[in-house]
Amino acid sequence: MNTRPAWVEISRQHLLANHRALRTHAGGAELLAVVKANAYGHGLEHCAPLLTNAGAEWLGVTCAEEGAAARRFCRSSRILVLSGLWKGEAEAAIEYGLTPVVWERFHLDEFEAAAHRRRLAPGSVAVHLELDTGMARQGVSLNDPCALDAILARFDAASPLRIEGVMTHFSSPEMLDDPATAESLMRLEHALERITARGLRPRWLNAGNSATLLAGRDTAALDALATKAGARLMLRPGLSLYGYAPRFLPAGQIEAAPLEPVLSWKTRIVSLRTIEAGQTAGYNGTFRARRRTQLALIAAGYADGLNRLLSNRGEVLVRGLRAPIAGRVSMDQTIVDVTDVPGAEIGDEVVLIGRQGGQRIDACDHADWIGSIPYEVLTSIGARVPRLTVE
Ligand SMILES: *Cc1c(COP(=O)(O)O)cnc(C)c1O
Repeated sequence: MNTRPAWVEISRQHLLANHRALRTHAGGAELLAVVKANAYGHGLEHCAPLLTNAGAEWLGVTCAEEGAAARRFCRSSRILVLSGLWKGEAEAAIEYGLTPVVWERFHLDEFEAAAHRRRLAPGSVAVHLELDTGMARQGVSLNDPCALDAILARFDAASPLRIEGVMTHFSSPEMLDDPATAESLMRLEHALERITARGLRPRWLNAGNSATLLAGRDTAALDALATKAGARLMLRPGLSLYGYAPRFLPAGQIEAAPLEPVLSWKTRIVSLRTIEAGQTAGYNGTFRARRRTQLALIAAGYADGLNRLLSNRGEVLVRGLRAPIAGRVSMDQTIVDVTDVPGAEIGDEVVLIGRQGGQRIDACDHADWIGSIPYEVLTSIGARVPRLTVE
């Protein structure tokens, strides 16, 4: 039952057009569609099948649970588990046909044990080995040369595991002239040489997110590294699939790709009242009317993901006009000032994220208002807000 007037609309056309645009932009590189965190808040069950039907062969999730959920909707996709697997998850990963990113010794122990229990043949379990080329978050550390050799020695002819992909993640791909990226590429090159020198032949070099893909500055170098190692390049866009480009620095250097936000977040006016000049509204009276003020109540609060930092700061769209949030965002409801929206009435559609009339509010506006990034805004939209697919 979805009768509360609050919902998210997922545009099928925009998602598919973004995917097409990114494929074109990527040239010959393979794309892994990142659908972690419920497809960045858009709804895995809506987005994953649309993307796979549009030809996406690889999906990226964060953990085994997300992988198992994706498998329900996408029977034949390859599903990469980006954040690695925890102890006890290897059996389920094999069961669901998930491909893990590995780097810790215990990842290999778990997978080897699970593969031996199932008497799987040598080389039959594909894994992607992550290298830490400078992010210092996950991946085999390249600071200590012995660490990589010790891990690589595990992939001998008898091992049930096979390095299908060599993966890395860059720390600052949206900073266009950051020497950190050049340094990462150098480390990656040296590590690939050591991997191939052992006779290991990864099929994929798996590197780069939306920023790497859209900036395009490092894709030729990555492609060359892949070719030299006898592999193909795979890029992993997430945010851009959903219609947002990262903010490149210095600004203005990258031509905007034709991306359209996929998600709109809507509610309705559920109550209206007028307060007099000097009266206050909301918790702790942080909004004080400077004039006779018409206030509208909307069915969205911080429990729906409408950040409390938007209190007295954010805006919404009503009747094609921008209306400011008045007072504190509450858990389930928010008050907006519609004094300057002629004719506002109960039932009017209110856009939190999306277009109305000639106006647009997007996840980047929310991010600016609350001092965050569009990723956090989108993934914070609460589970109780139903997601609907529209054309
Ligand atoms: C989330 C994630 C991505 C996608 O990044 P975007 O900036 O959203 O394109 C790519 N790779 C890894 C390892 C990730 O965790």
